[in-house]
Amino acid sequence: MLALTRASLSRFEPNSQTAFHYFLIDGIIAMKLNHFEEIEQAEVEMPGASGCKVRWLLGAKDGATNFSMRQFEVAAGGFTPKHSHPYEHEVFVLEGQGTVLEGDVEHEIKSGDVLYVSPNEIHQFKNAADVPLKFLCLIPNSALDKPIIQAPECGVEKN
Ligand code: MN
Repeated sequence: MLALTRASLSRFEPNSQTAFHYFLIDGIIAMKLNHFEEIEQAEVEMPGASGCKVRWLLGAKDGATNFSMRQFEVAAGGFTPKHSHPYEHEVFVLEGQGTVLEGDVEHEIKSGDVLYVSPNEIHQFKNAADVPLKFLCLIPNSALDKPIIQAPECGVEKN
């Protein structure tokens, strides 16, 4: 059992190979600290997405065995794919405003809102403002080998 104390955290050993700062206790990674802007941001390539970027803030690659935390950024007029999957989301809206589609119903969302999306629920985020819509979206790592189902009625905008 690791006991984190101020003294143990003072054994700070930055890692030169990534932007992450590791806090080591007896050679074991106890914590990782980083600024989100130092984490690579990638375009969401999934069909049905438009103007949507993602950062995998934390996940299996960091040693997190159970959950992945992603940060999404949807540009003005953009949207995530309309889709469902057999695992849940925990969402926190950081900035901006927009809508989330829950089945056939659209709900307004804004910064500070907290949203739970249950497994197999069709959902889609849209940016309704002229500034980016930014939110955190957590998934269990067990989701990574599970299928994502594109909603059949989803109008994919071809670029
Ligand atoms: Mn989803």
